Amino acid sequence: MSRPVTVVTGGSRGIGAATCVRLAADGHDLALGYVSDSAAAEQVADAVRAAGARCVAVRADTADEADVERLFDTAAAELGPVTGLVNNAGVTGPLGRLADARTEDLRRVLDVNLLGCLLCCRRAARDMTALGTGAIVNVSSAAATLGSPGDYVHYAATKAATDALTVGLAKELGPAGIRVNAVAPGITDTDMHATMGDPGRPARLAPEIPLRRPGQPSEIAAAVAWLLSTDASYTTGTVLRVAGGR
Ligand code: NAP
Repeated sequence: MSRPVTVVTGGSRGIGAATCVRLAADGHDLALGYVSDSAAAEQVADAVRAAGARCVAVRADTADEADVERLFDTAAAELGPVTGLVNNAGVTGPLGRLADARTEDLRRVLDVNLLGCLLCCRRAARDMTALGTGAIVNVSSAAATLGSPGDYVHYAATKAATDALTVGLAKELGPAGIRVNAVAPGITDTDMHATMGDPGRPARLAPEIPLRRPGQPSEIAAAVAWLLSTDASYTTGTVLRVAGGR
């Protein structure tokens, strides 16, 4: 059997980087998308190649339709037909109450987390339907059901939308042999918390998590890898919560 070819958006850091490394070990060839940190992207790409997988790193803003098309075009040209997609790229904007949020931050979070996910899903749906097979995993968040009051209700809303589109698209694409699932991580130890202005957040919130610690990116990557694998061949339309019980 030929090796799966999987596009991972936001593969340069955090959960996306751990997912790339895990998928390489599982036998995937990878197109790694990132938006700005080319040094981090190349470092992950090197780790993927060291694991014996082929990898192309592509700077592509998922909120930009032309970038998304170029990401998939490059993946297909360099690696072959795309059989997998991990919609992982995501942003929160600064922490705070909705009353204090700036319109440009709200718009960017919607554009990256929701429009970006839809643009990638749409291209994957087109390519995978022609192929007659494929699997998509959307990276949602436990915030989708917690609502994240005081932190980022707009972000939580985009993740609830991610869950809804996962369920709908799974039904739409099931007859074509394409599975669509989501992973909803809880607080995970990545740069995302520093980026939103609170680097100490994962450690501080640990007492609120039943397992009493934040998740590690590799623990989220394991769930993504399972949903992409043939072990999950009858699993579609599900949101797998990986949140330490929260
Ligand atoms: P992270 O450490 O901040 O990394 C974000 C990644 O996304 C980077 O690779 C970044 O690329 C990329 N990215 C950001 N905006 C992009 C865009 N417009 N187009 C393409 N790539 C973009 O984040 P993370 O914590 O790993 O989060 C990954 C996913 O998990 C997100 O969807 C997030 O919502 C979700 N999640 C995270 C947590 C958590 O606690 N960390 C919890 C639940 C859900 P550059 O390196 O080029 O900047």
